Amino acid sequence: MIRVRFAPSPTGALHIGGARTWLYARNQGGKFILRIEDTDRERSTSEANQAIFHGLEWLGIDWDEGPNAGGDFGPYFQTQRLDIYKKHIEQLLSEGKAYYCFCTPFELKKKREEAAARKEAPRYDGKCRKLPEEEIKKLKDSGKPYVIRFLLPPVGETIVHDKIRGDVVFKNELLDDFVIMKSDGFPTYNFACVVDDHLMEITHVLRGDDHLSNTPRQILLYQAFGWKAPKFAHLPMILGNDKARLSKRHGATSVIDYSGIGYLPEAMLNYIARLGWASGDQEVFSREELIQKFSLKGVSKNAAIFGTDKLNWLNGKYIRKILPERLIDLCEPLLIEAYGNHDVEYIKKVVLAFHDRLVLIPEIVPLSKFFFVDDLSYDPTAMEKYFKNENSKKILKELKDKLGKLEPFTKANIEAVFKGLAKEQGRKLGEIIHPCRLALTGTLQSPPMYDVVEILGKDRVLQRLGKTLLIK
Ligand code: GLU
Repeated sequence: MIRVRFAPSPTGALHIGGARTWLYARNQGGKFILRIEDTDRERSTSEANQAIFHGLEWLGIDWDEGPNAGGDFGPYFQTQRLDIYKKHIEQLLSEGKAYYCFCTPFELKKKREEAAARKEAPRYDGKCRKLPEEEIKKLKDSGKPYVIRFLLPPVGETIVHDKIRGDVVFKNELLDDFVIMKSDGFPTYNFACVVDDHLMEITHVLRGDDHLSNTPRQILLYQAFGWKAPKFAHLPMILGNDKARLSKRHGATSVIDYSGIGYLPEAMLNYIARLGWASGDQEVFSREELIQKFSLKGVSKNAAIFGTDKLNWLNGKYIRKILPERLIDLCEPLLIEAYGNHDVEYIKKVVLAFHDRLVLIPEIVPLSKFFFVDDLSYDPTAMEKYFKNENSKKILKELKDKLGKLEPFTKANIEAVFKGLAKEQGRKLGEIIHPCRLALTGTLQSPPMYDVVEILGKDRVLQRLGKTLLIK
């Protein structure tokens, strides 16, 4: 049984890559585990935590184990596992595979600068590797802050067998005696991640390839503990259109923000899945298809750029597919907020008139304004063309007379009036529709004319046509 985990840190980064990890777990019929890596006490916040949960829930990404889901391998917050890490740190210390380091941040900074001046890669010089027991005890008793470092095998190389990138070789001498426990007593990411992935019986680690350079360190830790390492797959990073890591600068800090902007979760999931992954040239996938087709074979090695053009296009496609009731539920509160309470049936009709036109849900507000506000501002060029021209005026006058007598005021009857008038006067339908559209909506673009006339209703239509006839 495959066990895959998504291990976000609640630090305000935009975690969208987890969707691909989830797809992999579901595709393989495995378990998906959510683990919150909150050991960075300065940067972790409970808001960011909530945003992770809400974002995953919104996308429909469910987890088999983790916060709120339970599981046999908890707790699933790293800050609740400190005693576990401590025990494992002690194990490495007692086996001589880790050591206390009392070097101060100031000293380390100085050494790094000196190394840089010599044009050498900055690495820890091993000063505290061989501190005598009594010295360690004395320093600890005196309250001097310390970290615990992993004693790295100084020679040889570590190979990451990556399912996407193939074998990546790292020379051990270029890796450092890295810190595994910080001076605040919290484990570092590399250490906690290895202990947890092992204890949680994770079989496959899928994560962004910004972590590739951490993986040899993690493999060395597995070796030090005598544990079998999981399989690794480093997925291409998802970057903003300026090629930088996705962050607040790119407009959203959490997936859930995209719901507020007006995206549908299915469009977002489809979009994220396709970032750096392809299955032929298919673009639109149902959730079931994504699960069925997602595979590491289709994952590219190159970073993917998160951009809104394609996301918008997909969102439009998904809006066309959703049920009318769902569209109404999404739009109704926005319309009430913008234009106050209106008859529910009227709102429903208005929303449905735009089902084929919306790209983002909130666009309903400006697009449908003419349905709620009588005081229209007309497009000036169009106004010149249609309202200051005797021919159009004549047409609008006749249209008004005919619609005024129309009973019942239904779409089929309205259509018959327009067509009858065109025939009677030997005109093209457009000659009637364009000025009428301008009179009723203020613009030359709207949902189909007969729908607009029917929804607005006889009174409003006559009143708006009448008003335009008075324009000099
Ligand atoms: N907490 C790490 C992050 O958010 C997880 C990396 C990993 O999956 O190992 O980047």
